[in-house]
Amino acid sequence: MANVQFENLFKNYGDVKAVHDFNLKIDEGEFIVLVGPSGCGKSTTLRMIAGLEDITSGLIYIDEKVINKIHPKNRDIAMVFQNYALYPHLSVKDNISFGLRAQKIPRAEVEKRVVEASETLGLEGLLSRRPGELSGGQKQRVAMGRAIVRNPKVFLFDEPLSNLDAKLRHKMRAEMKKLHKKVGTTTIYVTHDQIEAMTLADRIVIMKDGLIEQVGTPDEVYRRPNNIFVASFIGSPAMNFIEGEVSKVSKASSMIMLEDKKSIKLKSNNFYNNQNIILGLRPEDITVTSQNSGKNDNIIGLDAEISVIEPMGHETVVICDSNYGELTGKVESNSKLKENMAVKLNVSLEKVYLFDKKSEKNLNL
Ligand code: ADP
Repeated sequence: MANVQFENLFKNYGDVKAVHDFNLKIDEGEFIVLVGPSGCGKSTTLRMIAGLEDITSGLIYIDEKVINKIHPKNRDIAMVFQNYALYPHLSVKDNISFGLRAQKIPRAEVEKRVVEASETLGLEGLLSRRPGELSGGQKQRVAMGRAIVRNPKVFLFDEPLSNLDAKLRHKMRAEMKKLHKKVGTTTIYVTHDQIEAMTLADRIVIMKDGLIEQVGTPDEVYRRPNNIFVASFIGSPAMNFIEGEVSKVSKASSMIMLEDKKSIKLKSNNFYNNQNIILGLRPEDITVTSQNSGKNDNIIGLDAEISVIEPMGHETVVICDSNYGELTGKVESNSKLKENMAVKLNVSLEKVYLFDKKSEKNLNL
């Protein structure tokens, strides 16, 4: 186990700023997930730690020691790739032990570690098979086995589950979490999938265009997103956004006018006149009703018409047309709602996120 630290890390490929002033401190034993859309610099960051990519500027430390100039082989790191990178002509056992044998570790020790890792990963019955005789999930486990036996200071995972089907991905996600609990190795995991990030991470690092947008626990990035990007990236279905303009600020409250001139009173004067703001409504915070629920100053009620109903089994997603564009809500699966029905979308004011349109920053923070 080790701590890892990044100080003003940059990576340019010609004019492309792949990673831009990346600063982060990872504690011993932490499970950190780097998440963001394709091309945001996640893999480049991981590859710089592994030593597979040169660093343009900045420092990476493992246990307070700068590793920039240390040969990849000597960094005491194990990486698991998306395509598993197994040797097709070697058995599972030889694939798992390959790195150890290359390090000239005594045969009995190699044997012991292979047995332990294969028990941990449920590979005992497969040790003599070749990768071609394994399913995707089994290959994935072999790749993990190869990383575990090395007993490294840090695990690096680059989208390790994205070649698996949805069911297996879910299963392996849970196994990955159990494995981390058991071995406790500091882990840095890259994915573009926010659900994977939320379910696995102690802390999530959300990236966009080479920059860190926010670092926080799953709960923090969900409840207190720094900005519109984080708010829209975390949560499924994604947060709804509607535009408003501050029409009046008084001593203890402010009026916000929506696009259709509907106005909302907020108990805060932390705005300025004519400020353009974006209201964020999470689908799970919206109550969809077919009747008017009466006037309540603590609730925003938006008129809408249901365009699509998506039953998910345990819940139902309701997509609506409204004066504010498409809005998505989530309801219980036994709801009587139907397509083309006129509805009210009610959201309690305390659940509404407020962002400044220009800076895109969260005004509630
Ligand atoms: P992610 O892992 O988030 O999908 P990457 O780290 O792979 O993103 O890439 C970050 C940016 O750097 C992208 O714009 C990508 O096109 C660019 N990039 C990555 N590798 C290279 C390379 N070898 N040469 C030039 N540009 C690259």
